[in-house]
Amino acid sequence: MTDVSGLTSSAYQQALEVIASVEPRIADATRAELADQRASLKLIASENYASPAVLMTMGTWFSDKYAEGTVGHRFYAGCQNVDTVESLAAEHARALFGAEYAYVQPHSGIDANLVAFWSILAHRVEGPWLQKAEKKNVNELTEEDWESLRRELGNQRLLGMSLDAGGHLTHGFRPNISGKMFHQNQYGTDPETGLLDYDAVAAKVKEFKPLVLVAGYSAYPRRVNFAKMREIADSVGATLMVDMAHFAGLVAGKVFTGDEDPVPHAHLVTTTTHKSLRGPRGGMVLATEEYAPSVDRGCPMVLGGPLSHVMAAKAVAFAEARQDSFRTYAQNVADNAKSLADGLMKRGTKLVTDGTDNHIVLLDVSGYGLTGRQAESALLEAGVVTNRNSVPADPNGAWYTSGVRIGTPALTTRGFGHDEFDNVAELITQVLSNTQPGTTKAGTPSKASYVLGDGVADKVKAASAEMLDKHPLYPGLDLA
Ligand SMILES: *Cc1c(COP(=O)(O)O)cnc(C)c1O
Repeated sequence: MTDVSGLTSSAYQQALEVIASVEPRIADATRAELADQRASLKLIASENYASPAVLMTMGTWFSDKYAEGTVGHRFYAGCQNVDTVESLAAEHARALFGAEYAYVQPHSGIDANLVAFWSILAHRVEGPWLQKAEKKNVNELTEEDWESLRRELGNQRLLGMSLDAGGHLTHGFRPNISGKMFHQNQYGTDPETGLLDYDAVAAKVKEFKPLVLVAGYSAYPRRVNFAKMREIADSVGATLMVDMAHFAGLVAGKVFTGDEDPVPHAHLVTTTTHKSLRGPRGGMVLATEEYAPSVDRGCPMVLGGPLSHVMAAKAVAFAEARQDSFRTYAQNVADNAKSLADGLMKRGTKLVTDGTDNHIVLLDVSGYGLTGRQAESALLEAGVVTNRNSVPADPNGAWYTSGVRIGTPALTTRGFGHDEFDNVAELITQVLSNTQPGTTKAGTPSKASYVLGDGVADKVKAASAEMLDKHPLYPGLDLA
């Protein structure tokens, strides 16, 4: 590839001058954010660093264009260039994932899931209802018809992975709309091993008979057999929807193939584009031909006008992910997660499922006498950015938790390898083993406050800085 780091540097310097001429504080905050990201050990499993090409694509006049509808069928005039952008993004996505159909408009992962849910309801509930009522379309419905259709739509069942087993809140969790618009139920993991128990999922599906079976996760450190999940869905005629928001990069990079690749097995696959896939902040739905027409109605059914500048950046990111170098990246993400997990276990940290075979490592910090909240805060004080997370059957609930979730996509993008991740495990161990639970002002035990040993934060920060300096973020980009 052409080296464009010099160009990148001058482009950003000039862009920041333009921004500063209107609101200098935003230019300053933008500079400060780069400095912070460069200086921290970013282990948040859902974050990454997009390329300058992806980032720059988002900063253009495509942002100014309205383009509700689909390619060639817009509710606005003058969309020929948006059509080019959306077609290219979809074409790259189909090729990258081997999907029959790709819908690249969703603004985020949650939006992609909403599109998928309503597509399933449209295809499996509204369509058959209209047919049975002998109505050509919804324009022919009386008030009474509407009442009946609404009742049908609002009476469907969804089964997803529970939040504390690693599922996502959009998979039927009560505070999210998915837990309100569906009768929801959940499957968990084996309490002993922390692993998915397919027989238990199959039994639950047989008993609950969901319309939608959701697979996929945000905090499960293992691979899923999607061929099995499809078999289970088929046993009751359920639609299998896989949310690969977290691990799309491992699918794109062919680390997950065969039964572990959701695309050939699911009716619909939803994803974000900014996590392990390393694109712009956004979402996408992949579908079989059968579901494509209802997915296409995503905007304006549940989505506002598409973000054309972000669809353009998706096209650039997917083009990057189709290069051989992305396969190497994805394999490194998984290899590095193993190094990190092994490094933590050999130093005495308990991991949920005793390891990983994806990009996620989930620490159970109860062995250190800490809550997830205390561990997260102590690590942050030492410049290690993670997030607290429930562990299966967590005694500390979803707020304080007993776990810390970390992942390798971001630091792998910076070029960290086995030795660095082993060293990261050492630094995490130093922080956790030198942290004590704190007390409240009244002197009673607290689940939030903590005491980090003297000098530990500085020592860990210095050791991190040494590694981070060797693997600069956006090398050559100089804003001085
Ligand atoms: C992150 C995530 C989402 C939500 O993505 P947003 O872009 O934040 O809306 C949905 N599902 C899963 C499984 C995720 O991990």
